[in-house]
Amino acid sequence: MTKDGLTQSLQLDVPVRGQYDVIVAGGGPAGCAAAIACAREGRNTLLIEGTTALGGMGTMGLVPAWCPFSDKEKLIYRGLAGEIFRRSRAQVPNAGPHDLDWVPINAEALKRIYDDMVEDAGVTVLFQSQVCGVQAQAGRAEAVMIQNKQGLSFYTARVFIDCTGDGDVAVMAGAGCEVGNPGGYVQPSTHCFTLGHVDTYAYEHVLGDRMRNYDLTDDCICLQLMRDPELDLIVDTHFCNSLVAPGTVGFNAGHIFELDSTDPVAVSRALMQGRRLAQQFLVGLKRYAPEAFANAYVAQTGPLMGIRESRRILCDYRLTVEDYLARRSFPDEIGRNSYYVDVHQNSSELQAVQEGTFIADNRFERYGKGESHGIPYRSLVPVGLENVLVAGRCIGSDSLINGSVRVMPPCLVTGEAAGIAAAMAWEMPTPNVHAVPVERLQEKLLGYGAYLHLDAE
Ligand SMILES: Cc1cc2nc3c(=O)[nH]c(=O)nc-3n(C[C@H](O)[C@H](O)[C@H](O)COP(=O)(O)OP(=O)(O)OC[C@H]3O[C@@H](n4cnc5c(N)ncnc54)[C@H](O)[C@@H]3O)c2cc1C
Repeated sequence: MTKDGLTQSLQLDVPVRGQYDVIVAGGGPAGCAAAIACAREGRNTLLIEGTTALGGMGTMGLVPAWCPFSDKEKLIYRGLAGEIFRRSRAQVPNAGPHDLDWVPINAEALKRIYDDMVEDAGVTVLFQSQVCGVQAQAGRAEAVMIQNKQGLSFYTARVFIDCTGDGDVAVMAGAGCEVGNPGGYVQPSTHCFTLGHVDTYAYEHVLGDRMRNYDLTDDCICLQLMRDPELDLIVDTHFCNSLVAPGTVGFNAGHIFELDSTDPVAVSRALMQGRRLAQQFLVGLKRYAPEAFANAYVAQTGPLMGIRESRRILCDYRLTVEDYLARRSFPDEIGRNSYYVDVHQNSSELQAVQEGTFIADNRFERYGKGESHGIPYRSLVPVGLENVLVAGRCIGSDSLINGSVRVMPPCLVTGEAAGIAAAMAWEMPTPNVHAVPVERLQEKLLGYGAYLHLDAE
């Protein structure tokens, strides 16, 4: 830390409690992959997580299923992503050993998978520790300030990776960001929940297609819930659900609109609204689907609010929906992505949803078999910051393609790449993430099993 930084820490009476080679902020899919990859390269790595477990939205957010890991032909999110996915799938008895798409998540099992993998890699983890400040000088981060039971502390490192989803560290270090679509709307949020004591035979074999939220017919339960005036918080047909364990169905259902994830008051209010929504879903399911839900109860709502979209950091490359449409490959790509442009309707589109005229999820064509686009390393490198990388949901991207790269498989991929790149930057006399030798990074990624299209135009 510079003399000025130390002076400031003394003035604030904030001790420096640790020095690491690389610090990763946020222990979601991106942060776990980043920390494991970095420690695997031999770097002394600290992973700072605000909650009590690793996995982010996939565990503490109770997202019930992995988005597809395939391009409809083969596994394309490989390396650490593939390993985490395989271990997670093995913990879900109702998932087949070769299933690649929409595999349910057992959140408790997944927490332990991440625990084991970070410990095996030698990562130091700090739970219940929130990054609340960054000491930075002229585009160079020197320390993160965290708050936990020990009060405020500084932790220093030579390189930092921001995997907070919201780009907290990058923004606090001085990076620029954008939020929302050109109209100013962010995607709606969802507070995921699980229902227990479900009759799973009836759920799978009696209700069957009535539990879906596409190709809607009048007997679809999500339509009946939306039309029931007593269930006033259920305003649309967002209703994804998966059997995550015996008798237990996970729901990613309902929308909370225009939530600013960086506004603590708004998030607190939304969490309470989310719990009310879960209760309304329970009441409605008992009413319209008693075969499966007559005895069900709300087993859990996610400790984390489900934020689909917030800050996107301005990076050396802004991935765009045109890249998606062109199936573009990049000379500096660090992974491929095949997920569709999954942008949920915002509040201005709600009426069309309620009237059944909104064409959900199909504003952009979905890829055919074997198709994907590249993710360039430059979209992980914030403009104006020399030793900070971003990975996961907050990478440099426009709001449309962010609807695609925000899901967990590509977040794992960008995390692994950022972890290796940070380790490489650490080796430089003065770490500079913009100058990481990309071919060497790609060689390393390929060595760990990555899927890249390097010979494409
Ligand atoms: C409602 C919803 C449903 C979704 N459904 C699916 C789905 O079905 N399948 C799928 O694959 N993806 C799905 N996604 C997308 C996916 O879950 C997330 O976008 C993805 O997890 C993002 O990964 P991440 O690592 O960037 O961030 P996150 O998973 O959000 O993890 C960020 C972590 O950082 C921590 N953190 C944040 N700020 C700080 C801080 N200042 N200090 C310390 N720690 C901090 C958080 O506690 C969290 O653990 C869904 C998302 C939402 C919101």
